[in-house]
Amino acid sequence: MKKLVIANWKMNPENIKDAKKIFADLKKKNLKIKKTIPVICPPFTYLDEISGSYRGSAYKFGAQDVSDKKDGEQTGEISIEMLKNLKCQYVIVGHAERRALGEDNETVSLKTKAVIDSGLKAVVCVGENDRDHGGSYLRFIEEELHESLSKIKKDKTKNLVIAYEPIWAVGKGHDAISGHELHQISLFIRKVLVGIYGKKIGMNVPVIYGGSVDADNSEEIINTGEVDGLLVGRASLNPHVFADILKELEK
Ligand code: PEP
Repeated sequence: MKKLVIANWKMNPENIKDAKKIFADLKKKNLKIKKTIPVICPPFTYLDEISGSYRGSAYKFGAQDVSDKKDGEQTGEISIEMLKNLKCQYVIVGHAERRALGEDNETVSLKTKAVIDSGLKAVVCVGENDRDHGGSYLRFIEEELHESLSKIKKDKTKNLVIAYEPIWAVGKGHDAISGHELHQISLFIRKVLVGIYGKKIGMNVPVIYGGSVDADNSEEIINTGEVDGLLVGRASLNPHVFADILKELEK
């Protein structure tokens, strides 16, 4: 299976000129993209220009959030139909930074359903705030998975991706999880998915990792952690570092 590598630019950079430069510099690397699926998720305001001007097929595009509503009176929201018109194929749902603003599991499950029903791929983020010796963080992840996927039926899982993003590791620039720790959690997440959807589906839904990934730790995280890809924040804004991550995974 190809490794999914999602670039979450968050609310960066400050202007379209810089955004275009990041993507142009990445393309200039002329990477041989065969074993990975890189997905660029710029802010909504740059998505049109970045995806619209791309003539290749190696890079895919995604959004950082979406409304679960189809249309109508939703001030400030962006609909799935709008995203589809922008060559967008992936949507990050329930990112920790959205959850911190009040997005709950019910909303995450409504958004996930809307994304999947429309034929786009939903990258559903889960992850604990911190860890305790008693292991209650495992119950937290289990509950988050159950509730965030509560509206997704077995036959709709083809376009589902789970991103495990422990909040203590997201956006910190150090403190990524070790490959060994990640392996334990990726097995745990698989076990929960098997419990929800059965073995065949549970073992096949891609599980990716996000949280302080960079060029130095990406190989260990993927191989020892046994995950199906990466969600990269800060490091994806540097085209040289992001290219190095892709190169590691293409080896
Ligand atoms: C993220 O934004 O999902 C993320 C993983 O950020 P960072 O790579 O900066 O930790």
